[in-house]
Formats: sequence, C-alpha cells, structure tokens
Amino acid sequence: MSETWLNPTRCAICGGEGNASEIYPARLEREDLRPEIFSARRKPDGVHYRLVRCQSCGLVRSDPAADPRRLAEIYAESGFDYAGEVENLAATYGRYLRETVALGGGKGSLLEIGCGNGFFLEEALRQGFRDVRGIEPSADAIRAASPAIAPRIAPGVFRRGAFEPGTFDVICLFQVLDHLPDPARALEAACEMLKPGGLLLCLNHDVGAMSARVLGEKSPIVDVEHTFLFGKGTLRRLLESSGFRVERIGTAWNRCSLQYLLHLVPVADRLKKPWTRLADGWRLGRLSLWLPLGNLFGIARRSSPEARAGP
Ligand SMILES: [Zn+2]
Repeated sequence: MSETWLNPTRCAICGGEGNASEIYPARLEREDLRPEIFSARRKPDGVHYRLVRCQSCGLVRSDPAADPRRLAEIYAESGFDYAGEVENLAATYGRYLRETVALGGGKGSLLEIGCGNGFFLEEALRQGFRDVRGIEPSADAIRAASPAIAPRIAPGVFRRGAFEPGTFDVICLFQVLDHLPDPARALEAACEMLKPGGLLLCLNHDVGAMSARVLGEKSPIVDVEHTFLFGKGTLRRLLESSGFRVERIGTAWNRCSLQYLLHLVPVADRLKKPWTRLADGWRLGRLSLWLPLGNLFGIARRSSPEARAGP
C-alpha cells in the first residue's frame, strides 16, 4: 500500500515542506475522501489527517493531505446541509460586516468566497450593499439559492482571474480559509480583486480558543475538511504576507440555536438525547444565544502599493 493518495503540504506562511512537529497522527482511510464526509455540518466524527505545527511560525496544518484537484471535485459534489442555521449565521456574519463597514469600507460591491446558498449575500443587500456577488463550488448549495440571488453566484472554486482586479469594496470568507489548499494564494488573488483600500473580512476557527485547547483531538475543528487551522497570530501573519494591513483580529461571537449547540457537543448521541428531548419539549431548541464558539475574525485592508514596497 505505497500508493500515494495524500501529498505533502507546505506551510502557508513560510512556504516550506516538512519543518513541522506532529500534533496528532492521521485518523482516516482512503474511503473517507468523499463528499458526505466533506459536508459542512455533519456530526463531528474524528476523521482527520495527520496534524502538524510549523516549527518556524507555529501555523497548524494537515500534512500530508488530499490533492487539491481531488478536493475541488469533492466540494463540487458536497451537499448543502445547514439550512436550519442560516438565520443565525447571517446574524453572526452580519455583525462583523457592520464592523467592517464601520472601518471605512464602501457599500458598493461585495464578494463572498464560498457563499453556500447565498444567505449572507441577502444579508449584505439588507445592509445596503448595491452589488453582491458570490462564488461557490457546491452545485447543491447553488441550487438552494433564492431565485433573486442564484444569478449572482458563480459556480466553481475561487482562483486568480475569477473576477477583474480592483472590483470589490469588501471581500468575505466565512469558514473558508481553513478549507483552502493554498490560502496564501487565494488571499493574494482576493487582494488584487479589491479596490485600493478595500477590506477583507474573514471568520474561521481559532486553534488557540479555549474549547480547542480543552477538547484537543476531540475538538470538532480537528477535521479532515481543514487543511489549515489558524490562531490570532498566524492569521495576522498570513494576511500581512498576502498584501494586507490588518485592521482588527479578535474572538468572534456566534449567534446559534440551543439545538445546534447540542449537535456540536462531542459526546455520544445517547448522552445527548435526554437534553435534546428536553430542549425540543420546551420548544427551547430554536432559542438563540450569542456565544464565543471557538471562532476568530479578521478585518484587513488592501495595502497601497507604496506601503507594500516597504523599506
Ligand atoms: Zn510556517
């Protein structure tokens, strides 16, 4: 079985292969590389690649990992399965969009990379953006878009040349950066597509969050879908090395339902069942709370060419 179905990966900040210490050995079979395992909201199942930490910059990554072309195929076939949470997700992401706009981003045009069924594009329209666009690899997710939003979503994987340079005031990535095989290249491409002074907003898992540190390998963020796991420091370094000036990085607060919170708890279903039943019985399942759920957000501005030239 010397067949190579996984490839060595490079640190997205330092660019090098190797030079990393193992955090957890791999827990996956070749058969796990399929769309059902790569759907956003499946139950945490402990399937993950070997996880390592770069010895130079501390960035956590999967190594080795699936070929990016295979990943693109898997995401194209993956299902859209988080319709029940979109209202809360729109509220969460909308909160950070307001923070972004408050930093002086214009409300002309917005791009969301990995927009799912476009629920956040609708939120951006509600907040007064005039032109919203999305790009999304999952055909199933695009089929779930509303008729008004569907024509605004380009199918496929985000890459350089997907949109004209200097097009957008704001570009957003929600729970996307961790999944990309080459986040540095994607961010450089996004930087080019921003207008000068335009803003990038990202929200993703925080490997340094208390929940991640306490749960360790049992944390839902230790997952085969995640090629990289960022903390506040490594996200800052990645943004800075991709052409951005960081405006804000911090712990994100999520609005979520009690029901979804129970779904996330990494214990056996039989232990959760009484609580789930109780929550449903009292109609508490849909109750929404604002909580720090182990995510971080970053807002960064496209540096001017003079600033990037540096000393
Ligand atoms: Zn590194």
